[in-house]
Amino acid sequence: MRLRFFGAVGEVTGSCTLLETSRARVLIDFGLHQGGHHAEARNRRVPPFRARQLDAVVLTHAHIDHSGRLPVLEGEDYPGKIHATPATVELCDTLLHDSAHIQLSDAERLNRRRRTKGRTLATPLYTAEEVERLMRRFVTTPYDRPIEVAPGVTVTFHDAGHILGSAWVELDVEDTTESGERVTRKIIFSGDIGPCGAPLLRDPVLPPPCDALILESTYGDRDHKSQGGTIDELGEILNAARTPKGKVIIPSFAVGRTQQMIYYVRQLERAGKLDNPKVFIDSPMAIKATTLYRRHRELFDDECWEFITAGDSCLDFPGLEFARTPDQSRAINSMGHGVIVVAASGMCTGGRVLHHLRHGLPRKETHVVIVGYQGEGSLGRRIVEGDKRVRVFGRPVEVNAHVHTLGGFSAHAGQSGLVRWATPALAAKPPHGADKPKLILNHGEDRQRAALAKLLGERFGVEATLPRYKDTVEV
Ligand SMILES: [Zn+2]
Repeated sequence: MRLRFFGAVGEVTGSCTLLETSRARVLIDFGLHQGGHHAEARNRRVPPFRARQLDAVVLTHAHIDHSGRLPVLEGEDYPGKIHATPATVELCDTLLHDSAHIQLSDAERLNRRRRTKGRTLATPLYTAEEVERLMRRFVTTPYDRPIEVAPGVTVTFHDAGHILGSAWVELDVEDTTESGERVTRKIIFSGDIGPCGAPLLRDPVLPPPCDALILESTYGDRDHKSQGGTIDELGEILNAARTPKGKVIIPSFAVGRTQQMIYYVRQLERAGKLDNPKVFIDSPMAIKATTLYRRHRELFDDECWEFITAGDSCLDFPGLEFARTPDQSRAINSMGHGVIVVAASGMCTGGRVLHHLRHGLPRKETHVVIVGYQGEGSLGRRIVEGDKRVRVFGRPVEVNAHVHTLGGFSAHAGQSGLVRWATPALAAKPPHGADKPKLILNHGEDRQRAALAKLLGERFGVEATLPRYKDTVEV
């Protein structure tokens, strides 16, 4: 049997891996390529497999770089099911409809220019109707329940602690060789692994010994700053902003990071480090995601449950408000006294955060708190790098605001976390034959993959394979 890699190899987006046996073809994740000049073209290039010949699709989690190309399968007549955890399916419903909406507005914007030049018109990568049809293909499977998704391929989801519903996948695969010999393999596909000790979510469940481990390597070369120190730093900034005209703008990813920020603000209040905070969640998507998080509190960790059983809530407090309408969002402009606005998009590439930045960046009373990764070329990156003049909505804006970058809020395990998580899978003898498990590193840039490969090689005596686009690895 073999694995074929069609994305997230030597990079962190566009996840797409195909498992092929003599009897089955199972696709694991089908995400959008994001960032960079060629992302759009690469999303349009359908990988060299026939969607019609796939037996099943397995989705590790809802993030768009893992799920965002799934609706393309509708245009390719994919006949089968998509397996994911219940929370992943609910998040996908929101994220994929939003993605279809973005595809449509991108195409319309392009076409306004193309029409005047008489050029061929762009079509969106997929439509809301295709997302609607796709959603009917989902089959929900909770954690820890094995399900046969294709002949000889049994899948079990385990909590990956990365975002709500995120899973790493245990694949028990049976195949027959050309000479008629029966082969069994246990393959672990990490998806994205969360850090230990993150709020709300449980720590990632550890994997069993296996024949092959496909491991993400996003932060394969470094550890994050400590979370405790980062929360204290956040508290100091929020307090410093409590001046008559003071305001805090936190650009934030709608899923995961926003809920984490709500949790931290409440935690600071509970610890007596912040008095009556006033927080606006100003992003329709973040509001929907927060509602979903609240609905799936069965997935929360023990610490969170201690608060819940004590009558508190992890994701609500009296000063928390949702800005649902554009009017409510605009009203925040005239507020001060350290009001906190959490708004998407996380890298300031769109969304309502742009209005707040246009209004707030020129004022020295504003504090912009960067809590997530800022991609090359994004407005967020320019703000982090200290540019004194940026462009928002195409117009120049002076930056007089205080800019703070907090590094301890990742949804990914750092290097030590990845090594700790992978240890039970790599330290034991594989269940079927070989001396050492096969280690394949994906979902990381080459520098990160190389650093992790070296470390795991020294620690466990395994030689990692670092596949490239279209590579095939026998397992
Ligand atoms: Zn992810």
